[in-house]
Formats: sequence, structure tokens, C-alpha cells
Amino acid sequence: MSYTFKRKCYMQKARNIGVDVKMPTRECDSNLCPFHGTLPVHGRIIEGYVVSDKMTGAVVIRRDYLYKIKKYDRYERRHGKISAKLPACLDVKQGDIVRAMETRPLARNVSFVVIEKVDAKH
Ligand SMILES: [Zn+2]
Repeated sequence: MSYTFKRKCYMQKARNIGVDVKMPTRECDSNLCPFHGTLPVHGRIIEGYVVSDKMTGAVVIRRDYLYKIKKYDRYERRHGKISAKLPACLDVKQGDIVRAMETRPLARNVSFVVIEKVDAKH
């Protein structure tokens, strides 16, 4: 890591999380934030759209995928839902497409954290 790079990170006051994502424009003072806190990110990165933002500090992400039925050589549509922590510095609403990365378990069913808004609701 070069000196200038380190200095840039310091100026932004946001941590480099090691993944190529857009940095949040706002700052938050939460400890459970990969950019401004100490929340570690590692493992899988998922992408999906937000079906619910009703939880405080977390969203539900839905992923649609195709599953191949060998016998008929066709695909059926399946989906899965994943709950993810939403840092206060990211503006994410229901319908947005987001990218989330694996983190340590934060609740019974939360072990992902939103790291980027890919696309806003149209
Ligand atoms: Zn933050």
C-alpha cells in the first residue's frame, strides 16, 4: 500500500474494505459499519433486490435464480431471501438492487452486510 493511498483513506475517514465498491457519500458513527466501524467483511458477495426495509438497521434481499431439472432439460425459477445489515451511511429503499457481503453473525439470521447500492428503484 502506497503512502498516497493510505493518506487518501485517512482523508476520507473510511476504511478500505478490500472490495471494489463505491464509497458511501455520508459518514456514520456506527461501530457495525464496514466503512466507518470495525465490522469485518469476508467470504461470499451476493446481489439481489430489497423486498423489505422495515427492520431497523437491516433489509431483506431476494435473489432469483434458475434451477435445472435434469429429467425435462428445463429450468424452474427459484428464489431465496437473505437478511442483511444496512449501515446508516447507505441510502437503500425497498426495490433497490444491492450488493451484500458476508460478515460475522450479527443476529440469528443476519450474517451479511450491505456494501453497495447497485441500482435504484425505477
Ligand atoms: Zn458507515
